Amino acid sequence: MKIIMLGAPGAGKGTQAKMIAEKYCIPHISTGDIFRANIKNGTELGKKAKEFMDKGLLVPDELTCDLVVDRIAKDDCKNGFILDGFPRTIPQAEALDAALVKNNEKMDYAIDVDVPDENIVNRMGGRRACLNCGATYHVVFNPTKVEGKCDNCGSDTVLRDDDKPETVQNRLKVYHDQTQPLIEYYNKQNILKSVDGTQSMDKVFSDITAILGE
Ligand code: ADP
Ligand code: AMP
Repeated sequence: MKIIMLGAPGAGKGTQAKMIAEKYCIPHISTGDIFRANIKNGTELGKKAKEFMDKGLLVPDELTCDLVVDRIAKDDCKNGFILDGFPRTIPQAEALDAALVKNNEKMDYAIDVDVPDENIVNRMGGRRACLNCGATYHVVFNPTKVEGKCDNCGSDTVLRDDDKPETVQNRLKVYHDQTQPLIEYYNKQNILKSVDGTQSMDKVFSDITAILGE
């Protein structure tokens, strides 16, 4: 099963993608997590990506497409994968399609987690991330057991630089300008499914599993 998670930043793509990956035993591929790991490890890619991420801008397609195309060619993706945060532009979607078509493959589902901008600002202001293992929490909706410490690995949880209010507004604008057109792109391919992302995490997940099947 090959799945794309669509939706605004903070809509809950990562939260749902992790649960879907576990249930269907497919790898969860988050370009945001890949860039953050590169930043943490001080790689050249990380240095370049950080300049864009801190401003709420998209990392250029040249730095993003090959990364994903190489990742989905790995053995663990043979039975499918879930993409979270990619594609974010039409050229990225076209690069993905072109890579799949070479092997006579195509994506199966593009799931749009629909959340209005008003809710997004609260979601991102309350998001706390573990920069060590990538786990995500929310101070109100999904708090850590011990304040400020990751439940998985005990590292500190932080407000991401790009979740600060001034950057969130930029990210929303970028989403509407560059990423939202993908909804129509996948609608035309007949693989678009929408879920109401304002519901509880469990309800959103049960709506998604109803689409994907048991
Ligand atoms: P995305 O990957 O789309 O950027 P996340 O999955 O990181 O979004 O979710 C953004 C924030 O909102 C996180 O703090 C997460 O814990 C919280 N969140 C996710 N889904 C829900 C939900 N259905 N209801 C309330 N909060 C949610
Ligand atoms: P995310 O963790 O998905 O919210 O991504 C965090 C940031 O990483 C985004 O705001 C972008 O700057 C960058 N990023 C992640 N995925 C992509 C992508 N597919 N294309 C361009 N930039 C991306």
